[in-house]
Amino acid sequence: MELISKMIPASRIGEVTKKLKSWQLRAKKLGMEALSFKIGPPQPSTFRMLTYVETAHGQELRSTRVKTMGCLVEVTGEPPCIYGWQLLAKIDHGEPILSSRLKVTPGSFNLIPPAYKTTGPLPEGYCEHCHTKRARRHLYLLHREGKVMQVGKGCVKDFIGHGSAETLLRRTGFLEYLYSCLETLEEIPEGSGPQYEHCFSVRDTIALAWLSITNHGYVSKARAEEERSMSTAQRVVQIMPSAGTVLNDALLEIADKIIEEIKAAGEAQNASEFAQRAAYHVGFEEVGQEHGLGVLCGAVQGYIRAQSQEHVNQSQWQGKVGDKFSGELKLERTSCWETAFGPKRLYVFSDESGNCFVWGTSKYLEGDQSYRISGKIKEHDEYRGVKQTVLTRCKAEPC
Ligand SMILES: [Zn+2]
Repeated sequence: MELISKMIPASRIGEVTKKLKSWQLRAKKLGMEALSFKIGPPQPSTFRMLTYVETAHGQELRSTRVKTMGCLVEVTGEPPCIYGWQLLAKIDHGEPILSSRLKVTPGSFNLIPPAYKTTGPLPEGYCEHCHTKRARRHLYLLHREGKVMQVGKGCVKDFIGHGSAETLLRRTGFLEYLYSCLETLEEIPEGSGPQYEHCFSVRDTIALAWLSITNHGYVSKARAEEERSMSTAQRVVQIMPSAGTVLNDALLEIADKIIEEIKAAGEAQNASEFAQRAAYHVGFEEVGQEHGLGVLCGAVQGYIRAQSQEHVNQSQWQGKVGDKFSGELKLERTSCWETAFGPKRLYVFSDESGNCFVWGTSKYLEGDQSYRISGKIKEHDEYRGVKQTVLTRCKAEPC
């Protein structure tokens, strides 16, 4: 059965292979059934990286999530067992945090009755071997043929037999040691190269993007570079460390709603490439700073714009069908799809008064920018309650 399964950064797999022999030797010395190790193919994963950060209060150790290639390391074998008894967990009442009291033996988690995962079904410090309750710090949770027993540390040798209990404890201890070795390797050491990408929780990112856009407006990367200001994505990264203090339940609720909307928009039949990319990124728990964070900020902006009813009601048809049109329009949205004749793009513009214009073409226009447009009014259309003036045969110059 599977005892341990852990994702290890691909860069540390060398250390794992180096240690394999000594681990197998140790298991053999302890008289355990042979353990087998399997190392999976590299795949994109996220890991913890501990870094020292300069703060106003001096250096602080921070844990960040980073994205890089990882391999799944699996350890399979028989769990240590003596006379049918298996050690499921140690209980440590010295732990102030309830959820940390149970030290589960690798591979035993599913055998532990749920009641033990909270306060436990028995009085604190009760030993089922000697049937007494007293202030015991350490107890063991043992299992045989579906029966679970809680036994005091001092009684365990009496309960299973002295030599046997020692063997059981040593074998279980070895599994714990193996687990902690892999746990150490799970972290990426500081300064091990720039190939790692910082990751943030998708939910926090969406909530902070919403907060930032509603407070400061949306700033694309291109506009930030041009204006030498801060893009929405940069703002999100800047406030991210304090996410825990800024984000309340109401904000997270908004984030969940936006995530649902992004998913739905990406699955729609006429979904733009952008909508599909955004939906892809919200499918994960975490998003990379370089790949995805900007997309998510843009998607939040799209959501906010769609929500703004003002914008919807303001739009009126402009000019007469067949007339010439010329004016300065801001490019709001772009959808692109493939046709037999190459890519077709649909641009949605707005003028100063919030009137909506659309233009379908194969020409490429940079997004989030204003253009001087001259062309012809093809028709007056309505899409989702928004009056659109459809343009054709246009010339567009950035302004
Ligand atoms: Zn006892």
